[in-house]
Amino acid sequence: ALVVRRQMQSSGKWAKAEAILRELEDKCGAPTAKLRQVADAMTVEMHAGLASEGGSKLKMLISYVDNLPTGDETGLFYALDLGGTNFRVMRVQLGGKEGVIKQESEEVSIPPHLMVGSSHELFDFIATALAKFVATEGEDFHLPAGKQRELGFTFSFPVRQLSLASGTLIKWTKGFLIEDAVGEDVVEELTKAMERVNLDMRVAALVNDTVGTLAGGKYSNPDVIAAVILGTGSNAAYIERAHAIPKWQGLLPKTGEMVINMEWGNFRSSHLPLTEYDISLDAESLNPGEQIFEKLVSGMYLGEIVRRVLCRMVEEASFFGDTIPPKLKIPFILRTPDMSAMHHDSSSDLKVVGSKLKDILEVPNSSLKMRKMIVELCDIVTSRGARLAAAGILGILKKIGRDTLKEGDNQKSVIALDGGLFEHYTEFRNCMSSTLKELLGEVAEYIVIELANDGSGIGAALLAASHSQYIEVQES
Ligand code: BGC
Ligand code: MG
Repeated sequence: ALVVRRQMQSSGKWAKAEAILRELEDKCGAPTAKLRQVADAMTVEMHAGLASEGGSKLKMLISYVDNLPTGDETGLFYALDLGGTNFRVMRVQLGGKEGVIKQESEEVSIPPHLMVGSSHELFDFIATALAKFVATEGEDFHLPAGKQRELGFTFSFPVRQLSLASGTLIKWTKGFLIEDAVGEDVVEELTKAMERVNLDMRVAALVNDTVGTLAGGKYSNPDVIAAVILGTGSNAAYIERAHAIPKWQGLLPKTGEMVINMEWGNFRSSHLPLTEYDISLDAESLNPGEQIFEKLVSGMYLGEIVRRVLCRMVEEASFFGDTIPPKLKIPFILRTPDMSAMHHDSSSDLKVVGSKLKDILEVPNSSLKMRKMIVELCDIVTSRGARLAAAGILGILKKIGRDTLKEGDNQKSVIALDGGLFEHYTEFRNCMSSTLKELLGEVAEYIVIELANDGSGIGAALLAASHSQYIEVQES
């Protein structure tokens, strides 16, 4: 009798866990029709954000990049990339038509306490690392005598630009929260910190990572029209016609074009498939009510969503038996790279899943059935994110009229993609591509997604070069 009861209990438990998963799958559902609504809503918000300042949740920020690198840029330039858990410093020697002659870079991880400390401390840390890097400059790099070193500063947060080389921080996103920097000019902050460490360098361009990726992407492929980041955070930038930016008060750029940093992470719409897990994740985040789209699609959050679902399965369906693994209660303990490793486990007994559960959550034993359910859970959360990202891309294509075929026009539209999520999470990447095909039909053939691995560093250096203080003003 005891055995029978145990079996019943256990099948009841599986049924309950199964039910939680099915409910999740249902709520996360993003069928084609829904994605079209999301894409349309994105297009509508793009128009609204371009019409007036504050006109939309999409800030549609003007980048002041109105001409992209031509390939004629020459000289030594530095780039600094701040935005995720690491920051990168880089130098490139540009050789005009010869392209990038030499490049060197270094990655430094940011101590977590600096992400939530003071502006002064963060910028001191960055300037110090940059100064150390500059000190290692070898003979392959050449700065003409009497010239000051120049830097392209990639700063991957929403910034209201005042010019190409200045801009005030609107808000922090991802894991950063440094109150005293909000509203400040980040170039001024960096410049002051460089002075404090006696580093003689001028910031020639301040760019978002999407804008840097677009510039770097277009340098290697002229068909690039937009850049998307799917990493810790998520965002997109694209080339807009200046005429289509009613809020732009300045002179019309000669090229007639302007790169727009959409800040699509802050997109939100009633069409987004939100669950109770997303709502609690948002409420308990560093930026409640903000970056809702980002919280569905980006690397910082996917693993955390999975953790939240697992918590419920443990609490309501005793998923791991009678005890609740204490580690499971720690926010962000399940990182997206670990989730990805479990999702891609191709062994018949899902041993990667088993060892991740053991190492991260201290669940000593897990059955194959449990492991399978976890893989399925990862799949549901990832597919939703990837499908929504595809819908976002469709929204951009619609805005610029590249979502349909035009007579006699077989122009390719290339989208430069960067970010660890896209680069390393194969299931995410594949799902996003197949969803784009599903949405675009015959047009899919003309839309190319190109991995632009760390294109933003080169892009920022190129923009620094094309806006160098030593460039002679050309009369046209
Ligand atoms: C920021 C964007 C950035 C994106 C990708 C988002 O959280 O708001 O400015 O481009 O992350 O790094
Ligand atoms: Mg980056």
